[in-house]
Amino acid sequence: MNKLKSLLFKLFYGRYGSDSYEYFLLIIYACLCIVNAFLLIDVLQILTWILCFYIIFRMMSKNHYKRRRENEIFLAVYSKIKVNIKLFFDRIRYFGRASFRKCKHCKAIIKLPVKRGKHSVRCPKCSKLFDVRIL
Ligand SMILES: [Zn+2]
Repeated sequence: MNKLKSLLFKLFYGRYGSDSYEYFLLIIYACLCIVNAFLLIDVLQILTWILCFYIIFRMMSKNHYKRRRENEIFLAVYSKIKVNIKLFFDRIRYFGRASFRKCKHCKAIIKLPVKRGKHSVRCPKCSKLFDVRIL
């Protein structure tokens, strides 16, 4: 038992392991497997195998810098998508009661009450004034 334990320790020593990007890829892999179980498409089967090897490759990689860089890029894209989805649902939730505008200086999204006309707004994030026209 100790030999197996030391063998596994040697095998995984210095490897990258898993991160957020890895979990995302695993979810994609699971979805592809489920879809392929019903459709049985050869191209999809090949894609799942490629994805599986890529996931194992990332986990077993010793190049921590590149794997961390990939994860940072994924997190940046994911956070942008997450913000846009939240904004989409907020626009539906506050339809007719609030208007959403982007700050010209820091690009923060600001929720404003619906008052028709031209207004001067102070951004709560960067505290700079900018003009907004609500129709
Ligand atoms: Zn701002």
